[in-house]
Amino acid sequence: MTIFEKIALREIPASILAEGEDWIAFCDIAPQAPVHFLVVPKRCIPRISEASTSDNALLGTLLAAAASTARQEGLAENGYRVVINNGSDGGETVPHLHLHVLGGRHMQWPPG
Ligand code: AMP
Repeated sequence: MTIFEKIALREIPASILAEGEDWIAFCDIAPQAPVHFLVVPKRCIPRISEASTSDNALLGTLLAAAASTARQEGLAENGYRVVINNGSDGGETVPHLHLHVLGGRHMQWPPG
């Protein structure tokens, strides 16, 4: 079981911001911006490159959850960034698909 599945099951603590039937949003433990939370499917897909067409509805739900939770957290007016790290070069460290939502400061481009 991944660490994010354990968070969804409340087996390990997290600062949970919002939740739906098949997703959960919680604060990143090492925030890279004033607001930094993760949106995670409760069912583990390891990474976006391993999602299949049968996951399309869930992937859409995750994007909508990122937007609704960002609005809830006060980010809608000034904007925010949504990031998915995929694989080694992408900087992925937890093998359970998650969307990073970062806001509360201006983001640089290109990312490092
Ligand atoms: P990534 O590098 O894209 O795989 O992102 C994994 C993210 O999970 C990192 O930003 C970590 O800080 C975050 N993270 C790891 N463990 C926890 C945890 N127990 N609670 C909240 N965030 C976590």
